Amino acid sequence: MTFPDTVSVADALDARDPLASFRSRFVAADDPSIVYLDGNSLGRPVRALEERMSEFVAQDWGRRLIRGWDEGWFEQPVTLGDRLGRLVLGAGPGQTAVGDSTTVCLYKLIRSALDARPGRREIVVDRGNFPTDRYVAQGIAAETGAVLRWIDPDPDTGVTVDDVRAAVGDDTAVVVLSHVAFRSGYVADVAAITEAVHAAGGLVVWDLCHSVGVLPIELDEWGVDYATGCTYKYLNGGPGSPAFLYVRRELLAAPHAVAQPIQGWMGVRDSFRMGPDYEAAEGIRRFISGTPPILAMTPMIATLDLIEEAGIAAIRRKSVELTEYAVELIDERLTWLGVRLSSPRDATRRGGHVTIDHEAFPGLIDRLWCRGILPDFRPPTGIRIGLSPLSTSFREVDTAIAAIAEELAAKIDERSA
Ligand SMILES: *Cc1c(COP(=O)(O)O)cnc(C)c1O
Repeated sequence: MTFPDTVSVADALDARDPLASFRSRFVAADDPSIVYLDGNSLGRPVRALEERMSEFVAQDWGRRLIRGWDEGWFEQPVTLGDRLGRLVLGAGPGQTAVGDSTTVCLYKLIRSALDARPGRREIVVDRGNFPTDRYVAQGIAAETGAVLRWIDPDPDTGVTVDDVRAAVGDDTAVVVLSHVAFRSGYVADVAAITEAVHAAGGLVVWDLCHSVGVLPIELDEWGVDYATGCTYKYLNGGPGSPAFLYVRRELLAAPHAVAQPIQGWMGVRDSFRMGPDYEAAEGIRRFISGTPPILAMTPMIATLDLIEEAGIAAIRRKSVELTEYAVELIDERLTWLGVRLSSPRDATRRGGHVTIDHEAFPGLIDRLWCRGILPDFRPPTGIRIGLSPLSTSFREVDTAIAAIAEELAAKIDERSA
């Protein structure tokens, strides 16, 4: 099955894409045998990294050795956090720190929020949220006696402000939600939901894993209390690169500054005094626990350079064009085969990925991966197509949808044979 007319449409879209040249800044992005649609799960490495990593080994680590801690590493969780704040989080300085995984950051932030709302028992979570968010909330409930209140959102979209208004009340301590739903790609209205939670006297923890680096975020302006997110998705930090956490300035300020439960020597007033008792550092530093993962912070710095060059507004523009194009091709080539779009049609409510469902998709992914076409599978029957604006081409979208159509048609034929 070939679609010659759409290949030229895709190539024309690539030709007038103002961000097209960024593709060549990623390792192997020019290799036509790989069509990569999972940059929202593990972003491609930036080419400049090859040099940057060897320089880190030869110089920063190899020759500066232990002196590195005095020459920037000790401050790096916060200096890099500030840069993330400025470029991709809409956060003023002193509110963001890099370190730990999103899972651990969620634990710290939810516990912190519970402590900041004594007398209130409920943690509000939604059943559509990413597993780790739900599991951490369950663990905290078991540990502290907090009560979980579940929101059941429409699975094809996500949590709305009405869902939240109906769930919060006098007993709400904290609401834990994702900015962009990991399955459907639905974009939650962070500002309106945050306001609704505040009106009930609660605090919010926003998970930004699927929005950071691809959608404009304005944490300060939206009045967000706490946020966290990973850096290996649209920030291309590499497998297991550290997460970041954000805590609103007002919460960090004395006299009733918020605390966090994993007290460690890197989050105290003077780490190298090595004093007898934990004495929390001022500001966001108190949310750091142990020695920061400096080596693992290095790759995301190369991505931030690219984001600074491109600008997040242009990135979002291309992201919308990519998902619009994907939806158009899905309608054209897959709907007649029984494929269902499980993402919002409204581009303003859709993040950087598109999910489609078909009962024959389990098993199809193996065939696609064998062909070098790499989307993600999301149980029970979903294929998730992740589009990273700096590294994905329109041609890749075209090739992938054509391949899905071909493999699906073949599978349906085999079944009916
Ligand atoms: C990817 C993702 C995570 C991952 O958490 P880790 O601790 O890095 O494994 C968490 N939440 C959401 C919404 C995600 O998409």
